[in-house]
Amino acid sequence: MKNSFLTEDLVRENIRALKPYSSARNESKVKNALFLDANESPYNTGYNRYPQPVNMELKSAAARMAGFGMDCSNVFAGNGSDEAIDVLVRIFCNPGKDNIVSISPTYGMYKVVAAINDVEYRECRLGEGFSLDGDALLSLTDRSSKIIFLCSPNNPTGNLLERSEVMKVVQNFAGIVVIDEAYIDFSGDEGYAGVLCEYPNVVILRTMSKSRGMAGIRVGFAFASREIISYMDKVKYPYNLNAVSQELAIKSLARDKMENLREIVNERERMFAELGKTEGVKRVFPGKGNFLLAEVGDPAAMVAFLKSKGVVIRDRSKEPGCEGCVRITVGKRSENDLLLSLLNGGDEQLFADSVRLSRVTRETKINLALYPGRSDIRDIRTGIGFFDHMLELFALHSGLGMDLCVSGDLEVDGHHTIEDTAIVLGEAVATIYRSRGGYNRYGFVLPMDESRAEVLVDLGGRSGFKWDVSFKDNFTGDFPVQMYPHFFESLASAGKFTLHINASGNNDHHIAEALFKAFARAIRIALSNDIGEYEMPSSKGLI
Ligand code: PMP
Repeated sequence: MKNSFLTEDLVRENIRALKPYSSARNESKVKNALFLDANESPYNTGYNRYPQPVNMELKSAAARMAGFGMDCSNVFAGNGSDEAIDVLVRIFCNPGKDNIVSISPTYGMYKVVAAINDVEYRECRLGEGFSLDGDALLSLTDRSSKIIFLCSPNNPTGNLLERSEVMKVVQNFAGIVVIDEAYIDFSGDEGYAGVLCEYPNVVILRTMSKSRGMAGIRVGFAFASREIISYMDKVKYPYNLNAVSQELAIKSLARDKMENLREIVNERERMFAELGKTEGVKRVFPGKGNFLLAEVGDPAAMVAFLKSKGVVIRDRSKEPGCEGCVRITVGKRSENDLLLSLLNGGDEQLFADSVRLSRVTRETKINLALYPGRSDIRDIRTGIGFFDHMLELFALHSGLGMDLCVSGDLEVDGHHTIEDTAIVLGEAVATIYRSRGGYNRYGFVLPMDESRAEVLVDLGGRSGFKWDVSFKDNFTGDFPVQMYPHFFESLASAGKFTLHINASGNNDHHIAEALFKAFARAIRIALSNDIGEYEMPSSKGLI
């Protein structure tokens, strides 16, 4: 395949002859001008202009990520790698005439895309341990076979395909070999990007959806020869990737590190061991992705039971070769613990009375979940270390487990991140107290170390705020002291409750800790419907 391969010969005739859509702006090659060419609105919303049809900055970032000396001309950026799969089929396969060969079981979209494009789809069953037999797969090909789809680590089986068998296919097939590496980052394997320069019939698929945690922005890549990429760019929709996704993908790729990758891999290994010991689980297949395939006694019953507890896993038992199997995505430690506990006879309802809120503005993007009674859940990431520490104290002492992820404009300063977090947290607390049949309404606490803090709270549906706290410096860690009153005032205003706070001490760090602990304790008492010793006389009584 090395030298005789010519992309041109494989491409459908109509695609070879295609004159792609071209915009006036593209043709003019002008960057800064008065743009009256594309019927856009002249009023700047930040997104009133069409996005770049082909974003070279994004391609470069992806090429750098893939390594092996690739450059922009080797990268296609698509609306998820799903788009790349579809575009490849449309370039190479004549409907009603050509065929695609793949493995089974594997990722379902290859077959769906083949069906949509009216292209025959042939499947080669994987062998023992879901291993690939290259010769068996090649024996299914004929002169009308245009693409072979391989997936390594394979979904849903999780295993890496044997390298020598993959290479046998690459070297002996006269068409395109697509190797889908959606899960490669979790595997520790180098994958096949390194063989591209030698084998021009190979296309590698990668995605932002898995290890980079950005499935919501829909960005995936194909890496291939310059010729194949130029056809892909010709066939895709002109504006296939929206401007927001382009921006976010570039930002993420600029951070070399994939956040949380190590944690997910560690959790996968822990789950592999723990699931193996769980009753009703016959065996767990060693997986190299961010999921595990497990053979269980009664997959439908397990899926239904977990669903009744608010946990969704994937039943894969209808897939050939996966009889009796379910596929479980690796979550965070607390989520995996919940799953294990439920499978081992526990009866938690983690999500039953939880509150989930999201807020997206130009400055911040916030996802918050509060879990009443689960203060062991404290996964807090605001990008401001000291703030994380304070919120962790809040979660611990209020009894409201917290899963908080904030991505804010910290390149400006912490203001919007702190303010918007306060708003979302206030709204979440309000959602909880409004949903309670009865609660104490008032709360107060006076914890003491060398500092003291008094927090009075009235969850009465009206906001009010009084602040009498003095700090010595301008910052506690990376948290601007000015923002403490602003945080609590925003919180009280969004949560429609009254807060009276005073605190003093010698050490700012201690004052801040005392403040958050006292506030958390006050909220805990106020939210409780166990009157006990905290009973307060009220004209309205227990709300
Ligand atoms: N390939 C495989 C093997 C997958 O499992 C998935 C998604 N589950 C995709 C590709 C599609 O990913 P994307 O979000 O990039 O479209």
